[in-house]
Amino acid sequence: MGVSTSARAIIIGGGIGGVTAGIALQQAGIDVIVLERAEELQEVGSGLPLWTNALRALQKLGLAEAIETIGIPVTAGKISNWHGGILADLRSEDLLERLGTISTVVHRAELLATLLNAFDKGKVQLGATCVGFRQDSERVYARLADGQEISADLLIGADGLHSTIRAQLFGAHKPRYAGYTCWRGVADIDGTGLETWAWGKGYQFGITPMTNDRAYWFAQRYTPEGMQDKACGRKCEVLELFNDWHDPIPGVIRATKEEHILRNDVYEQKHLRHWSRGRVTLLGDAAHAMTPNLGQGACQAIEDAVALAACLKTTSDVVSALKLYETLRIRRTNNIAQLASLIGRVVQLGNPLVSGARDEIVKRIPENVLLKILMWILEYETPDLQPGDAQTPGRELQKRSIVQSETLEA
Ligand SMILES: Cc1cc2nc3c(=O)[nH]c(=O)nc-3n(C[C@H](O)[C@H](O)[C@H](O)COP(=O)(O)OP(=O)(O)OC[C@H]3O[C@@H](n4cnc5c(N)ncnc54)[C@H](O)[C@@H]3O)c2cc1C
Repeated sequence: MGVSTSARAIIIGGGIGGVTAGIALQQAGIDVIVLERAEELQEVGSGLPLWTNALRALQKLGLAEAIETIGIPVTAGKISNWHGGILADLRSEDLLERLGTISTVVHRAELLATLLNAFDKGKVQLGATCVGFRQDSERVYARLADGQEISADLLIGADGLHSTIRAQLFGAHKPRYAGYTCWRGVADIDGTGLETWAWGKGYQFGITPMTNDRAYWFAQRYTPEGMQDKACGRKCEVLELFNDWHDPIPGVIRATKEEHILRNDVYEQKHLRHWSRGRVTLLGDAAHAMTPNLGQGACQAIEDAVALAACLKTTSDVVSALKLYETLRIRRTNNIAQLASLIGRVVQLGNPLVSGARDEIVKRIPENVLLKILMWILEYETPDLQPGDAQTPGRELQKRSIVQSETLEA
């Protein structure tokens, strides 16, 4: 009943979102081609927590075991202030019972390699920059920078923050600078038991364990856009900022090689009211680039990929399937992006009086309230869709798939 097995999809972009979508669509019997502008498929050298919601989506693709071999499960989490006072402890039995693990932390490059192992690499075209598309009632045509045109039944823009496909569909919007820089590092230190998320002085710092005696960390602080590294180097700058923070933070920074520290200004995109037009849709950062404060950007891209394949199985009409996908995904991802943005502002409050008051409030928030917010994100599972669901009213579908987000809004 789904789109024809002779259907062809073009995915623009071979990042985590594009490749996961490639796997999901291939498994749905669709002939997929991934067009990637880079000469090589690669990810940046940092850690990535795959939260339970992303793990559940990857499980649907049969990748749970492969992820286990490259990841370390995280079963506890705590929020502290910068000198180590506990603000919230999420070592809850309830949490573990419900989720098993909270997240599995992987190295991004190792994740991409694992995804590529599950994908037919012959279907990736490198050095292929898409400059736009055109569509009619029968086909969609991707235009490449070298003048080539490739046709398919559907086209998915998984081309990231500065998406060409998004710009053509809904107009070009410059990504909004969130106001802060993020450093990410991989330390050569056994990260077991070092999990922390520390808030203070207008900054934040997080640590999670990784495989092979490594620890992934991130640090964020407000800076003007485009600031460069200090003359003493990245590691020295981060150490200067966090030297007096609680253990093990300074030690973890010291255990990181200069070349294993990344620095990025953080951007987010304006929320869209639609993702799909005709035979073209968006996925991952192209659809919903968000700040990293909830660690959900890539996780949502993975959820998108599984949802898109599920929608394509419900109807032979591509246009209706893409509308169904938009209906399923847009509200959840916009809500998560909004929450991530808010959390960034709260966590990085600079004024000591205000941040002190915030800490007191967080300490008093009952654990079950924190859990409710977490569960809304982590317990999500793409609903099993049935043939004919493309005709189901959007409101009903949302009730089935994002009940928890409605609970939160209430
Ligand atoms: C500092 C920072 C920390 C983060 N931390 C987390 C985290 O902890 N957890 C989490 O889940 N997410 C996190 N994210 C977000 C996460 O990195 C992104 O959401 C995710 O990588 C998006 O994947 P994507 O495949 O949609 O896009 P991308 O990874 O951007 O991939 C897009 C691909 O498209 C290609 N491309 C672009 N334009 C074209 C074109 N015209 N033609 C052909 N190819 C094209 C690009 O070369 C690229 O390979 C973080 C992001 C940042 C910046």
